[in-house]
This record gives sequence, structure tokens and C-alpha cells, in this order.
Amino acid sequence: MQNKDLKKIPKIEKILLDSTFCNLNKEIVKAIAKDLIEKLRQNLKSGAPQNKLREEFDLDSATFLQDLIKAVHLEYIKQTSSTLKPVINATGVVLQTNLGRSIFDKKLLDEIIPLLSHYNNLEYDLINGKRGERYSHTSNLLCSIFGVEDALIVNNNAAAVFLILNTFAKNKEVIISRGELIEIGGSFRIPEIMNNAGGILKEVGATNKTKISDYRNAISADSAVIMKAHKSNFDIVGFVQEVSMQEISSICKENNLIDYYDLGSGYVRGVECGEPSLEEITKNPPSLISFSGDKLFGATQAGIILGKKVLIKKLKQNHLLRALRVDKITLLILQATLKRYIENRLDEIPTLKMLSISKEILQNRAQNLLDKIPSFFNPNIIEIDSLAGGGSLPNVKFASIGISLFVKDVKVKKLEVALRQNNLIARILNNKIILDLRTLQDDEMDKIIEILNHIKKSL
Ligand SMILES: *Cc1c(COP(=O)(O)O)cnc(C)c1O
Repeated sequence: MQNKDLKKIPKIEKILLDSTFCNLNKEIVKAIAKDLIEKLRQNLKSGAPQNKLREEFDLDSATFLQDLIKAVHLEYIKQTSSTLKPVINATGVVLQTNLGRSIFDKKLLDEIIPLLSHYNNLEYDLINGKRGERYSHTSNLLCSIFGVEDALIVNNNAAAVFLILNTFAKNKEVIISRGELIEIGGSFRIPEIMNNAGGILKEVGATNKTKISDYRNAISADSAVIMKAHKSNFDIVGFVQEVSMQEISSICKENNLIDYYDLGSGYVRGVECGEPSLEEITKNPPSLISFSGDKLFGATQAGIILGKKVLIKKLKQNHLLRALRVDKITLLILQATLKRYIENRLDEIPTLKMLSISKEILQNRAQNLLDKIPSFFNPNIIEIDSLAGGGSLPNVKFASIGISLFVKDVKVKKLEVALRQNNLIARILNNKIILDLRTLQDDEMDKIIEILNHIKKSL
């Protein structure tokens, strides 16, 4: 009986030769088919009358071979499909690290496509026929915008902090306020980075108060840098005092130390947020500043370093830079974003556009969307607050408009899961789903209606 059944299992070649697989990766198809057949054989041999595979496949069915082929194909699709997919961010949190932080304007991407589908002069001086410098493509623009002496780009701001401390403070002291020993998500902590970079952390002041005298008293013959880290993702209120970057810069000047500002977000202009702006800071620039390319700066993941020419030169001489080097894609997106800052085309920087969008526009969009949402979801327009996110502007709320949804007798969590599994990320507030209009893109509206109609059937 068992033996008879075993014979019904087709030879693996019979599956592989099916036209379904003619354009697919043969090795992967073979591995999946082999695995399936082996499991089927084992199941039959074990003699268990009831098991999953036996329920799935009827050995005596006329479609048995086709069923096997279908199963192999489904598994193939599962194993080889792209896992990175577009998602709709309805959370209202503009900079979501989990959702990739800043997004790009389509026109900007169109601009860089020809440079990526062809060779380019990344490190080639076309005038003199000599080796060029990849960083020059962005440093000129950065120097024009911020009036600084020089600039350098590394992989992200964590890398920038690391490179700076490793270059200037290896086995030397870095003085920093106890109120600024920050942790950013993804295990970036100032003390740990300092340690890994070889710097000696010299904490001064207290969590809530640090005075000029604290810095002055800490300076020794072993000191190299006074660092200020921006409190990007938290705020201390109440009995507080901190020393401004400008004051730190003058102490450094008197004592021949390097003044370094880890600014975090890199806010330039265009959003009412109370964040220290690069435009303000660079009026009296510290010797070195670093910030992220993909937070409020609105470009791609990068660590942007601005500062004195002699110091940037030293950073370039550190062999570590080779390991932190950015790709041409990064430089192209940065260059295109910098051009938009120069030409004041801030509405082509989606992060800034989303954070500065007016309530009236959001209201109009909400109405248009609401009109198409099935009444099954009980849609309603409400006033809410959105956050900047991504470790930026912890205390700033942006008045926004949302659409609330709920379905009678369906748990809100179930609704959230159904939306999420269809790539629509929403938040829950007061037992309802909220779609925040601030982070929805114009070309996502039809898709949202499609998703809602789709999950309506499954709830
Ligand atoms: C975000 C942040 C970092 C880390 O920047 P990444 O670009 O995410 O590596 C470092 N310092 C501060 C103050 C930050 O806000």
C-alpha cells in the first residue's frame, strides 16, 4: 500500500520540465521541488494517515502533478520576491527611521537617473585629465550655502562623530556636558562611540545644569576637543542651564582646543520648529559641525561634516575614511538636494514640504479622501497633532488633520493589522484608526481606497 503510494510521486524532472519554470532560476526551483517531494515521501513512509501534506495533495487526483507544480511555484515566489516594498505612511510622523526617514521628490530622482545609467566623473577631473575627488561634488555647494571653509561626507552622522573623535581625540580628552550624553535609536550612544573611537570622555556639569566654569575647570594638558551634542530626541525642562555653542567656541579659541557641534538633525530653514538652524549656527561656525543627511535636512542617509579646511584635511588623511566612504548615489541625491536649497525650491524637499504644509490643504485632501472611503469604515475628519519623528523635535507638535476609522464589532487592533499587512501604516487613537493626512502622498489616495475596499471583505 505504502509502496504503491510512493510510486505515485512523480520524478523530480517531471516537475522541473514544466513550462511554468522555464524562465525561473533552475537551482532554486530544483531545491524547492526536491524538498517538497522528500517531505511527501517521508510522510507516506511514516504511514501517518492524517498529515498536512496528505490533506494538501491527493495522490489519486488527476491534477496531482499540477498541484505539486503550483506548490513549488508558490514557494519560489515566496522565497525570491523583494522584501522591500513601498508602504503608505499614515502615521503623520514625517521622519520614521523604520520607514526609511526622508523620501525624495520624483523630479530629483529623474535628474539623477541619467547619471546612474551612465558612467560619470565621480573621481575624475575632466579639465585636467587627472584623478578628482568624490567629495568635491558636494563640498563646493555646502561651502556656498553655509559660508564654511570646507565639507566632507561620510556614511551617516554616527560615522561622522566616530571619524571626528578618532582623528582628533584618540587617547585624548573630550569634554562634554553630562546633559548631552545622548542615546539615539539603533544603539548610538556618545560614551560608547567615544570609547570605540579611542577618545577619553570627560563629563562636566550635571544632567540639568552645566556652566561655563565647568568647561573651563575641566581643561587639562590632555584635552583635545570640547563637544556639544544636540538634544535631538528629548528635552530637559525646569531648573536647567546649558552653555551655548558660541561660548564653547570662545573657550576653545582661548585654549587652543577644537570646538565640535554634533547637531543631529541638520535643520536649514522652512519649518517653524524652534530648532537651532544651520543658517544661524554657521554665522559664527564652530571649528567642526556634523549632522545627518536624512533627518530635517531632507536628503539621503549621510553624515555631513562642515568646518575649517585644516581640520577637514586631517579627517581626509584618516585611513578610516575609506571605510566610511559614500557611494555616488548618496552624493548625487545630496548634490540635487543642495541645489534645491540654493534655489530655495524647498517644496521639492518632501520632508520640509510635509512639515510646513498648511492645515487648509490638509483639510481639502481629507475631504477628497473621505468622500471615497466606504461608509463601512465610519470615516470622520478630526484635528490631530503630528510629530517630526526620527529623533527630531521631540516637543514640537504640528497641528494636522486626520481621518478616523472604525468598524462596528471589529477590534481596532484587527483593523490596524489588516491595514499594515496591506502596507498601510496607521496609528490608533481613542480606539479608532487614524490616517494622518500630513504624511500621505497625492498618488497614494487611490491605493488607500483600494486597500480599504479589499480588507472590507476580509474583516
Ligand atoms: C541622529 C543623531 C545621530 C546619529 O545620526 P545618524 O545619521 O542616524 O547616524 C548622532 N547625533 C545626534 C545628536 C543625532 O540626533
